[in-house]
Amino acid sequence: MRVFRRGAIGAISLAAAVALVAAQQAPAGAVPIEETYAKLLVKKVTGENARQHMVALQAIANQNGGNRAVGTQGYAQSAAYVASQLNQAGYSVTLDPINFVESWVENSPPVLELTAPTQKTYTPGVDLFTFQPSPAGDVTAPVQAVDVTLPPTPTPTSTSGCEMSDFAGFTPGNIALIQRGTCPFATKVRNAGFAQAGGIIIFNEGQPGRTDPFPLDIGEWRAGVPMVFASFAVGNELANTPGAVVHLKVDSTLTLGTDYNVIGESRKGDPNNVVMVGAHLDSVPAGPGINDNGSGTAAILETALQIGNFPVKNKVRFAFWAAEEVGLLGSDQYVEGLTQAERDKIRVYLNFDMVASPNYAYKLYDGDDSDAIGFPAGPPGSAQIEDQLEAFFAGRGLATVGTDFDGRSDYGPFIAAGIPAGGIFTGAEGIKTPAEAALFGGTAGVAYDVCYHQACDTIANPNLTALDVNADAIADSTARFAFNLTAIP
Ligand SMILES: [Zn+2]
Repeated sequence: MRVFRRGAIGAISLAAAVALVAAQQAPAGAVPIEETYAKLLVKKVTGENARQHMVALQAIANQNGGNRAVGTQGYAQSAAYVASQLNQAGYSVTLDPINFVESWVENSPPVLELTAPTQKTYTPGVDLFTFQPSPAGDVTAPVQAVDVTLPPTPTPTSTSGCEMSDFAGFTPGNIALIQRGTCPFATKVRNAGFAQAGGIIIFNEGQPGRTDPFPLDIGEWRAGVPMVFASFAVGNELANTPGAVVHLKVDSTLTLGTDYNVIGESRKGDPNNVVMVGAHLDSVPAGPGINDNGSGTAAILETALQIGNFPVKNKVRFAFWAAEEVGLLGSDQYVEGLTQAERDKIRVYLNFDMVASPNYAYKLYDGDDSDAIGFPAGPPGSAQIEDQLEAFFAGRGLATVGTDFDGRSDYGPFIAAGIPAGGIFTGAEGIKTPAEAALFGGTAGVAYDVCYHQACDTIANPNLTALDVNADAIADSTARFAFNLTAIP
């Protein structure tokens, strides 16, 4: 990366520098003082300081069986490390409890039978499987099809249950009959839960290769009712049986655990305008997760520690999410727990998940849909975030590419709630293209991170140039929104 020229200000303490800058009268037409703060902050947030946080996270993993997964001591110690650093920097720190699936056992096969207008019993393991981690339940109720496409289209198109509007007219207590397609099973199940379904049957969509059911862990239990995955034949039959009433039973033992998001909020700044910056803190069980997501954790933590010295105009709230790797559970439960008034105060959400991939590309979340790869743009305001990050990289002569809001990280619940979002991602298991290798260096035809979700995602894995550049970009973006240099959307 390009080395920034060091000014005289670098030689004195930060507190003194802030005081000195604040004491100077800015002549008319001069650079706003906040611009000076932003530049100073970017200087203070160094790649080496960020790397030290990754070293600490690696040490925690080493002492705890090699990982920092949710529900483990490795996670608890990671949370304690972050909380203690934020506390020392003067933040108001909260440990925000969230639930996750600790264990799930199916005690006996599911029961699915038509009880009216005729009697028919379906065969578990052939016609249907229980979705893991379905809660136990035993319900007999009318079946109600939810925006199904029958007969199915030649290629998959069904959006059954993907939108809450699909459940307009749904009778609470009925068994929701939902077709596979377009969005994740977990989304369909979640929506059915909001619609107060008494039970949930998702059936395969119906194209060749998409007819049979299979066992599947969808990581979602919060609908609170029994849920199964059935064959296309079963779904098609139930949907075409007027007056169908079904008996659905799942016999399982679901045990939930509790863990904690760490939230640190600046004491200064306007509480009605919150700039929120997040990174997930948990790793997968397979490894220590130092790029995924020790890198994002380290970069936002260092930004938090340094920006704590500045007189921010807007509140800055840093979130270190639990249980991202098991379904964005930390961020999802956080957003779900906010009132609409509290959501409205969050003016931007910046997400940083994997910012030091060894074979990196500088990917910015596609706020304006200019890179449309298949997913829509973020909510209004997201384009400004993308523009602002793009300007930072351009200012250093560095290229960026777009990356879709595909729902694979913690921005998901925020954009679902209409909160403008953006951020940086340097790539996971995807393969670097020749065009990207020309822009960023590295190796085309190889994954951005060959150690993604593996034991080798250690302190040896991250690319320190990418970490350094992205730590600066994160500091710059946070500062611009915190100081109102970029008007908050
Ligand atoms: Zn991640």
